[in-house]
Amino acid sequence: MSTDYLVKALAFDGVIRAYAVRSTETVGEVQRRHQMWPTATAALGRTISGTVMMGAMLKGDNKLTVKVQGDGPLGPMVVDANAKGEVRGYATNPQTHVPLNEKGKLDVRGVVGTQGMISVVKDLGMKDYFTGQVPIISGEIAEDFTQYLVVSEQVPSAVALGVLVNPDNTVKAAGGFIIQVMPGATDETITLLEQKIAEMTPISTLIDQGLTPEGILVEVLGQENVEFIDKLDVKFECECSKERFGNAIKGLGRVEVQAMIDEDHGAEAQCHFCLETYQFSEQELKEYIDEIQSAE
Ligand SMILES: [Zn+2]
Repeated sequence: MSTDYLVKALAFDGVIRAYAVRSTETVGEVQRRHQMWPTATAALGRTISGTVMMGAMLKGDNKLTVKVQGDGPLGPMVVDANAKGEVRGYATNPQTHVPLNEKGKLDVRGVVGTQGMISVVKDLGMKDYFTGQVPIISGEIAEDFTQYLVVSEQVPSAVALGVLVNPDNTVKAAGGFIIQVMPGATDETITLLEQKIAEMTPISTLIDQGLTPEGILVEVLGQENVEFIDKLDVKFECECSKERFGNAIKGLGRVEVQAMIDEDHGAEAQCHFCLETYQFSEQELKEYIDEIQSAE
């Protein structure tokens, strides 16, 4: 049972919307499943924390996918999250690590790259999709999420994301916050928050010191200003199943499925997110062909 969670809050009479998450165990599970190396863990862990907070901005059964496609050695990262705090994600090359940067920190930019796109697809139900994308401006992820929220969703936002990795590659601390400015906020409030955020201890350090998501928002917004409105458990959850992969195989069409039978006498599919492997026997593939034919 994960003790990770996320809080939503309003502040300054509702003109500031805020989210904070502790995702240490969730990012830790992804690190273990994919045997990730530290810089890759930091990059994907930041993306997971940012995406799970964006998921919390959705309602009901809505969900979203964030893709970070930079030109660095990590390759594309894909993270899915929903409005219930469930998240899953992977990096194309999980065993990626580079030397620390000039500040002595994990060089996330060095593995993500500085050229490319961050794209977001929101599944709003009833075949209604919202997509937005912006160029990567930093490769450090938090700045890129900020850029996405400001440019694509047109909500002035501040995003902080952090991951600390232990010497044995396990995850020591992970989390983040998003502060958003709604119409009606005064310049004074905005300046105050900008100062506060600029002076703050790094988010991963705060989480490592045991600060809760509530504590983080109190730190940023001030105890007297913040009103917590919701709390959500956060956990790694993969919705893959043999049936879903089976449907994908059927979707390839009769010729492709026949080729799997002729060449391999079966098929194997692996989920990119959780690494679960599904086997399909020759008999199962033959049944798929019957199904495809009867649907034609
Ligand atoms: Zn899976």
